[in-house]
Amino acid sequence: MASQFTFDPNRCTGCEACGVACWMEHRERQSRPWRAVHTFNACGHPDLPVFHLSFACHHCESPACLEHCPAEAYTKDAATGVVTVHADRCMGCRYCTWACPHDAPKFDPGRGTIEKCTLCPERLAQGLEPACVARCPMEALGLAPLEADRPLAGVAGLPESATAPAIRIAPLRRPGPPALGQRPPASALGAFLPALLAVPHPKITLRGEWTLLLFTTVLGVLAAWMGASQLGGPPLRPWAFLASGALVMGLSTAHLGRPARAWRALFHLRTSWLSREVAAVSAFLGLGALSGFAVPALGPLAALAGFLALFAIDRLYRVAFRTGPWNLHSAHTLFNGLYLLGLLAGIAPLAWGLGLFKAGLYLHRKRHFAALGKSVRPRVSALRVGLGFLGPLLVFASHPWLVAALAVLGDLVDRGEYYDELEVPTPRLDLVEVMRHRLGAGPS
Ligand code: SF4
Ligand code: SF4
Ligand code: SF4
Repeated sequence: MASQFTFDPNRCTGCEACGVACWMEHRERQSRPWRAVHTFNACGHPDLPVFHLSFACHHCESPACLEHCPAEAYTKDAATGVVTVHADRCMGCRYCTWACPHDAPKFDPGRGTIEKCTLCPERLAQGLEPACVARCPMEALGLAPLEADRPLAGVAGLPESATAPAIRIAPLRRPGPPALGQRPPASALGAFLPALLAVPHPKITLRGEWTLLLFTTVLGVLAAWMGASQLGGPPLRPWAFLASGALVMGLSTAHLGRPARAWRALFHLRTSWLSREVAAVSAFLGLGALSGFAVPALGPLAALAGFLALFAIDRLYRVAFRTGPWNLHSAHTLFNGLYLLGLLAGIAPLAWGLGLFKAGLYLHRKRHFAALGKSVRPRVSALRVGLGFLGPLLVFASHPWLVAALAVLGDLVDRGEYYDELEVPTPRLDLVEVMRHRLGAGPS
């Protein structure tokens, strides 16, 4: 029978016995805590309640981890509902850690694979409760048969998603804060607010994903160049293509925990955009090499595969929060590729149209950030606009290589900003957003 966790925040004291119990039960397999206790209003703001949430994997009915994992490393047991990650199938791409809005999959850097809550199958088989449930001294955590009706919308700590987490959370009974002894006076809380509302360390950063920045940029250049060479632009020499293709392959596997299992990336074409991206990149590199060395007629097909790969890249990043007012970004790889194609092939309407569109998206996003009080990095913006838009459009057609180099540099700056702006939903981030909303502090 399928089960669900139950959790009562009115009982939980935040003692973390559940997390310790989980570690004791699974310490041979666990490199990071699988269960985490999150505290809402840790500083005790007098206008808000203080409560704790104990979360692990929710063994969702529509698990995003399973849908997006390219290597088919996840399975869901039809009878029990348990979602399992099989470390021996994982290639360590960490895409599931982006896709899961509940922050359940943990990357083990030692093994280079993912681990997470298993729902203690060995204990369940013996008729025992999961270790975390059994050791909760307040009986705040429980396991019960799965209910169809679980009112989860708007529950703090459960980011909005289509995953249908298998958990029921009791409504908070106490509208105000519990008596916690000495609380700081309201007048002194101004100093606490920045710490209280600090956005947790983001999962995606430019520093962490620089290989992906280079991979997406080099691939965009190659796809545009291949397309332009079919349309009378500068020819793409086969050896240059081969060397760049090798660089693309190297960059795309550099961030994998288990690069030797990269071949598994093609296993989940049915639902994973990462699988589709890998398939399109492979087709592009294969067709491109064939067209360069043996069958020139395959050139257009290779260019098409290249642009499909760029489209797939933009789709797979959609598990992260929108980075602007719309789900369009001036550094989307498809736009970058088409802009460069227009510049290299001398197609003025494409170059001017895309250039103005991208510039509009860029400036609109900066205005949006400024309105939210976010940093707009004016010097970076000047560099991006000057290099990427003004430079190429001013010298258009007279110096094609200079034009292309300027456009690529501008897009590189923009895409660097893109990685720093991306954010994936997590319970901790959701709690901060709820606090901001309840305190009228506006979005982060
Ligand atoms: S909580 Fe995350 S890892 Fe667990 S089943 Fe749901 S989507 Fe997958
Ligand atoms: S292959 Fe990638 S998405 Fe799948 S479990 Fe491993 S890290 Fe997660
Ligand atoms: S159910 Fe088992 S594996 Fe999952 S958090 Fe609890 S103790 Fe850990």
